[in-house]
Amino acid sequence: MKISVCTYCGVGCEIGFENGRVVPVNGVVSKGKLCIKGIFGHQFVNHPDRIRGALVREELLTRYGYAPSSYPNFKGFKLVPYSVAYRITAEELNRLKECYGPHSLAFIGGARTNCESAYLFQRFARQVVGSPHVDNCARICHAPSLKGLRATVGEGAASVPFDEIYNAELIFVLGSNTTEAHPIVSHRVIERVRSGATLAVLDVREIGLFRFAKYKLAIPYESNLLFLNALARVIVERRLYNEPFLRERVENFDEFKEAILKDPLSHPSVFERLPGYSHLAHQIEELAFEIATKRTLFMWGLGITEHTDGSYAVMAIANLALLTGNVGKEGCGLMPLRGQNNVQGACDVGMLPYYLPDYRVPEEIGYKTPEIIDAIDDGRIKALWVIGEDIAHVHPNQSKIRSALKKLEFLAVNELFPCEVTRFAHVVFGVKSCYEKSGVYVNAERRLHLSRPLFETDLPDDWEVINGVASQMGAPFNFKSSEEVWNALREDAPKRFKGATYELLEKDPLNPPQWPVTEEGKGTPILYRESFPTPSGKARLVYTPYKLRGMVKELLERGKLSGFYLTTGRVLPHYNNANQTGRCETLEKFQTFKEDTVYASEADRERLKGAKRVILRSEYGETAPLPLEFNRHLKPGTLFVSFHRAKSRINFLFGDEADELVKTARFKSVKVEVEVVE
Ligand code: SF4
Repeated sequence: MKISVCTYCGVGCEIGFENGRVVPVNGVVSKGKLCIKGIFGHQFVNHPDRIRGALVREELLTRYGYAPSSYPNFKGFKLVPYSVAYRITAEELNRLKECYGPHSLAFIGGARTNCESAYLFQRFARQVVGSPHVDNCARICHAPSLKGLRATVGEGAASVPFDEIYNAELIFVLGSNTTEAHPIVSHRVIERVRSGATLAVLDVREIGLFRFAKYKLAIPYESNLLFLNALARVIVERRLYNEPFLRERVENFDEFKEAILKDPLSHPSVFERLPGYSHLAHQIEELAFEIATKRTLFMWGLGITEHTDGSYAVMAIANLALLTGNVGKEGCGLMPLRGQNNVQGACDVGMLPYYLPDYRVPEEIGYKTPEIIDAIDDGRIKALWVIGEDIAHVHPNQSKIRSALKKLEFLAVNELFPCEVTRFAHVVFGVKSCYEKSGVYVNAERRLHLSRPLFETDLPDDWEVINGVASQMGAPFNFKSSEEVWNALREDAPKRFKGATYELLEKDPLNPPQWPVTEEGKGTPILYRESFPTPSGKARLVYTPYKLRGMVKELLERGKLSGFYLTTGRVLPHYNNANQTGRCETLEKFQTFKEDTVYASEADRERLKGAKRVILRSEYGETAPLPLEFNRHLKPGTLFVSFHRAKSRINFLFGDEADELVKTARFKSVKVEVEVVE
């Protein structure tokens, strides 16, 4: 049986494959179960739309002395041998580097790539081109988790494995629609609740997990930090904190205490003044007591990170764990639920503008993706290479991005299917999908899965394309296999990966180790048992006051809302831009509505005239006409929509509002007007 890893979320379930079918296997993550994306999500592999070759624009071929007539057409491009596309890409990158300097070139990778490709991509940017501008799609998801956790506990990763859910007494899920976005983790959560644990769920919608929760915390949009600070205040005021833990393992308690007690917005009674949300004040008091007295596991998703204060909210979650000693042992800890299956790995190997492999700090800090877009827009960046990330769909401020992409002198894209960003490309490399290659993926619990191909193909992996272009540029990249790249990476990131050879990872592919892996090959399931990886060995409490804004401000000052607040998210059958899942026949059948659908509160049916189709409009742009449904899971004045289909134009609604520290877009709240069209 062949063993691979599901690509569709950070859970990273092990997949078995036999006789052309996915077979659930008893892996340490999947435990013999898979969600529908794991079972049917490979069906795109042989879809006729696949890009099976290298594509170059006709005028570029002519410029480099090739006769376009010699090559067949493919959706507006010419289909050429890879050697031709490598040469042209190398020549273009060299030309622009000579003309405008190395900083005029930028690189954006997706976390669908394996560690080997992500590692080589950042090395290509930094060593071959000499540009610090390299980033990955964590920018639009969990960059705030990395920032917030490193600032408090010292390591931007989950502190415990998923299996510690079974040892938790209280599970606190924040901003994560786990049943749809991370189903196999939600399965563990529900199992544990059935066997006696308490569940608290915090979200702006009454999501699926509310059914199992004792604390059903439907909060106003953009009030995560307000809520978390209030919990911490109760713990401090009532002296519910773990005094020995704070004394021995945590810094800054006195300063933290002083700051939180003098902040008027940290008091739970603020919620009493929010119409429709006043009951939360009492729940905060009760929940604070439970966090302090139970082994508590904190799990969060993009509902926490995709805000202007996402990094601060992650610090606020870590504050709760530190105040109550809920970290560094079994049954408790900090667990960011990553979106793609290698977000953790892409960051670990240095595909970030401010970290090298192993989170070493580079001499020169590069641009984050929104800064890259600005630099393209104003002409400082002339060339861009994008690997596995549809930046012309899944990023915010699409009007600006599309206008910027048109200004590029050269855009190369590695992709599986034609999509929005390939429409702007000069060269497109068709590449292997995750189910056709070997490579390592680091899941949301730091586990290193070595995935092996389920299907054969002649297409190159992303790292082979990078290798091919680098060779044309005279760089000494002569890697012959993914294992060779991995071994170079292990040397470059020894703290985490030194002992994690392919041989070790393949010894028990259904139970591979979690980083850091020692030289002797021993993994580390639980972090911070003895100390924190900070200069003092202690963790740090960081208090950030909540800034009054948006929905909370409106409710406090006016007592009611004008217009609507919209949040966005995934639906179970689909992932990201649905480029892959939208081409899986069975997954498409699972989706009731074939379009991104707007959901509104049943209480707003009259206000919205029982509409069937609406256009959403913000100060930045508007959507296409979208179907509208009403349900009882949303509060009055709030809306939800998924963002999977490019034609819906959801991301035209968002501007540059982003996390203050790391620029992750504020996808989880935007004020919109609703125009009824049907
Ligand atoms: Fe894939 Fe995530 Fe579902 Fe597991 S839970 S099968 S990794 S989508």
